[in-house]
Amino acid sequence: MRALIFVLLIFLSFLCAEEGMFPITEIDKLDLKKIGIELTAEQIFSENKVSLSDAIVQLGGCTGSFISADGLILTNHHCAFRAIQNASTPENDYLTNGFVAHKREQEFPAKGYTVRITEQVLDVSDQVLQAIKKIKDPIERQKTIEKINKQIVKQAETDHPGLRASVSEMFPGKTYYLFLYTYLKDVRLVYAPPRSIGEFGGEVDNWEWPRHTGDFSLMRAYVAPDGSPAEYGPQNVPYQPKTYLKVAAEGVEEGDRVFILGYPGRTYRHRTSAFLSFEYEVRMPFVVGWYQWQINLMNSLSKNNAARALKFSAWIKGLANTEKNYRGKLQGIRRIGLIEKKKTEERNIQNFIETNNLKEYKNVLADIYQIFNNTRQSYLRDLLLSYFGRSAILPAVARTLVQAANERQKPDMERESSFMERNFNRTQTYTLLRLKYFDEQVDPLIVNELLKKISNLPEEQQIAPLTSIFKLDEDFSKAPEIVKQAYQNTRLTDANFVKSCFNKTPDELKALNDPILNWMIALQSAYDDLKEKQKKRRGELTRLRALWLEAKKAYLKKDFIPDANGTFRMTFGLIEGYAPADAVYKSPITTDRGILEKTTGQSPFDTPEKLLSLLKAKQFGRFVSKTVGTLPVGILYSCDTTGGNSGSPVLNAKGELVGLNIDRTFEATINDYAWNHQYSRSIGVDIRYILFLLKYYSNADQILKEIGVE
Ligand code: ASP
Repeated sequence: MRALIFVLLIFLSFLCAEEGMFPITEIDKLDLKKIGIELTAEQIFSENKVSLSDAIVQLGGCTGSFISADGLILTNHHCAFRAIQNASTPENDYLTNGFVAHKREQEFPAKGYTVRITEQVLDVSDQVLQAIKKIKDPIERQKTIEKINKQIVKQAETDHPGLRASVSEMFPGKTYYLFLYTYLKDVRLVYAPPRSIGEFGGEVDNWEWPRHTGDFSLMRAYVAPDGSPAEYGPQNVPYQPKTYLKVAAEGVEEGDRVFILGYPGRTYRHRTSAFLSFEYEVRMPFVVGWYQWQINLMNSLSKNNAARALKFSAWIKGLANTEKNYRGKLQGIRRIGLIEKKKTEERNIQNFIETNNLKEYKNVLADIYQIFNNTRQSYLRDLLLSYFGRSAILPAVARTLVQAANERQKPDMERESSFMERNFNRTQTYTLLRLKYFDEQVDPLIVNELLKKISNLPEEQQIAPLTSIFKLDEDFSKAPEIVKQAYQNTRLTDANFVKSCFNKTPDELKALNDPILNWMIALQSAYDDLKEKQKKRRGELTRLRALWLEAKKAYLKKDFIPDANGTFRMTFGLIEGYAPADAVYKSPITTDRGILEKTTGQSPFDTPEKLLSLLKAKQFGRFVSKTVGTLPVGILYSCDTTGGNSGSPVLNAKGELVGLNIDRTFEATINDYAWNHQYSRSIGVDIRYILFLLKYYSNADQILKEIGVE
């Protein structure tokens, strides 16, 4: 009987789950009723009427949703992680112990966090395409696209005071949309479970199912007393969203329809096999190795040192998250033979082009291949140069300062976006926050390792300023000593000094004669050349990709959904299990039993005593699932999500909150290249586990009252 139900569910899901992060403006093309969603497209997104989408926010690189009239936001623990870490000290360690604001005054600022709410979306493709119509030179094309986008943004922000604008490329070289956002800058932390709940399973369970992580947190958006967006201030008041999500305390069960609204980051499904094999053979293996090296370094240096462990926690978490994601992708690409599949499709499209004598598309694929072949020639040198200005903290800070000094000589509209007036404050805030992670042992070791790799590059790829500063052409053993001296003499560890450097001209920076600043001053032209090269490449690829997509459309005779690009999307699926490997079937709801089974007492499986007692006593109140007969913890569903969807609400057919998206399964990390119903599953925290924790573990009655669950 169970087997029959399973077959039936799989069959039904073929009808009801499909690829698609639908742009929010496209959902009126979906047959929502047939899908099983009981709302109209207008009830989900409308520019004139209050709709569900008014409750969804972009929060840093994640998604969140309003769940009360007073601007309370539900998102992931891992999305609030930096805020929790920044506020923690070894004596007052919110990361380890959790945090509950029982009163509004106790809510503390989540420094560097902002909230965006999509208000309007406008198609500006004509304006952009008109501007580049006659331009053949790829760099000029790329620069013109960037320039016209900035002009559109400026005009939009003048026309709509108080809103933030941004132009997003939907299909490269084809469609461009202007997004207008309400932008809130005072965000505070309200609730975080202890790390042993919020990150239960740590990296072992990250990107894995079955999952038992209480990966949620609560934040609140504040505005000035007159309701306008404002920086943090004690006089600020909670933001009143146009609407907020209703919490469905009864949750969902296997086979139920769910949908997700959120801000997925990037997917690459429309790219060619040339891109994919570059990623597979070259870039991802390098990044995996480089991140593993840094993680090992930080882990070994923070053993038996609580302050260090705390300082490195978010940094390690970020590196480990990408590292494991890439390992999943490498495995997945190989397992399903994705590159070969793409190549076969490309051969078919090319045949179609030749047979129909479609001249304008004839060389497109070959030209794309040529670009990637060129990129391969110097990829390692380019990656190392770029990581030299990014991986260790002080060089990264120095690079930002040198860029700021140079860019700020230019008129505002010609600067790189981070140094334009509208973004400069944020750039300074992020840089100063980053400085807090500086560690005098780790930083120089990272620099040394990169220099070692650079010194091993072939002769013709050596980076001249580095060769001369660190005497790389002599004996490598001289470099670590030069690095050591630089770290002893730099003033960049002093936040006030860094702050003062933000307003300096290039000459003034030079006059400071700071050794690490000097590295980046010497490298400036190498970085400029790299940037030009990348712009040229992007310009060429944008034009070619647009053509390739036209050819593919003509061949397949169908329209596509644009790749994710950080803009507002909807996806739908079912609560359903999957069979990721031969003879393995994984069901879609985890329970309290799994927490008890996994708990060893050792991190990352060190469940707090209080939670263990509650689970053992089976004190679950009303939060028991009808079908599994106990407390549900995690849910699995066939929606189409990617990075950036973390913190997205999982909604039932009526649009009520039943879960919180946190992750994907290991096999689904290749969603970014190809979604497939067989292996693509996303992972969420069941709303009932969240409510159970708030009520019984944290006694946060005031929060439950605020969200209408008692
Ligand atoms: N964990 C991801 C995030 O942080 C979500 C995902 O990649 O599925 O956005």
